Amino acid sequence: MRAAILRGPKNKLEFEDRAVPVPGHGEVLIRVRACGICHGDLMVQNGDFPFVRFPIVPGHEIAGVVESVGAGVDSLRPGTRVGVPWLFSACGRCKQCFLGDEILCSAGQYVGMTRDGGYQEFMVARADYALPLPDSLGFADAAPLMCAGLTVYSGLSHAGFKPGDKVAVVGLGGLGNLAVSFARAMGGRVAVISSTLGKEAGARELGAEKFIHTGTESVGEVLRAWDGGADIILQVAPSLESANAAVPGLAPDGTFVLLAPVPVEVDYVALCLRRQRLMGSPSGSRKELRATLDLAAAHGIRPRLKCFPLGRADEALAELEGAHPAGRIVVVMD
Ligand SMILES: [Zn+2]
Ligand SMILES: [Zn+2]
Repeated sequence: MRAAILRGPKNKLEFEDRAVPVPGHGEVLIRVRACGICHGDLMVQNGDFPFVRFPIVPGHEIAGVVESVGAGVDSLRPGTRVGVPWLFSACGRCKQCFLGDEILCSAGQYVGMTRDGGYQEFMVARADYALPLPDSLGFADAAPLMCAGLTVYSGLSHAGFKPGDKVAVVGLGGLGNLAVSFARAMGGRVAVISSTLGKEAGARELGAEKFIHTGTESVGEVLRAWDGGADIILQVAPSLESANAAVPGLAPDGTFVLLAPVPVEVDYVALCLRRQRLMGSPSGSRKELRATLDLAAAHGIRPRLKCFPLGRADEALAELEGAHPAGRIVVVMD
């Protein structure tokens, strides 16, 4: 089978013919049909995560079909359509695991970082961390939900989102598009903040009632004029400038959520006086992934896609880094 691998940090993606892996106890072999390309993959390539085990096959937004099952697996059978998220496995015994918050487990293993991911034709996953896909979701549509969709849904949930809340989405790339779709599907009002004027039409199509251009408008002022400010701000763009511009637009009792880790500058006196929260949020746990998939199926949420064949995965990564695409990039297998 074909696999795309990174031999070390700062390396280019290389292609290799490898033996199809054999699933161990509790594992399944998956025929990958689509794998989303996430900003996290670029961070792996750039050497931003010290825990990555090179050489590694990147990719943690996988949709595929169970090809065979290892010993001890009775929950999945060959032919089942499944999705695999970033979390390969967790310990199952710590406090976070007992609370169903396994994404916060300190003994996690990670797809595309410590275990080979989805930039290959077949991969191994833990049976209890591969979720069956709703029938209505195609492989390419489902793949970006496994990280991008899950991350925005989980971030909104843990920020205490309620129907009717005003949500500001900072950045309208692949993650931002899904953030708007999920916030709308959950009953939120949405403002999109972007440095690209050309993205306004797309934001409105997804249901945003406001579009704020960082180049020509004072983001904080415009947000505060929006009925007192945004209840939740989702920072999806890895841009410090846009984050700092958005912070003053947070409503009293509001929550600023870093989905991209930027060192945002906060007026801490204002933060105290207005009882605001600054939080970070990683991907999500299986209960949130289940809800993400159900919401997407129920509300017809589909990512905007640009597809590349596996053989052009290096081009796809370069496009994500250089072109700031308006949708999600997905590698699809022939
Ligand atoms: Zn990701
Ligand atoms: Zn644990």
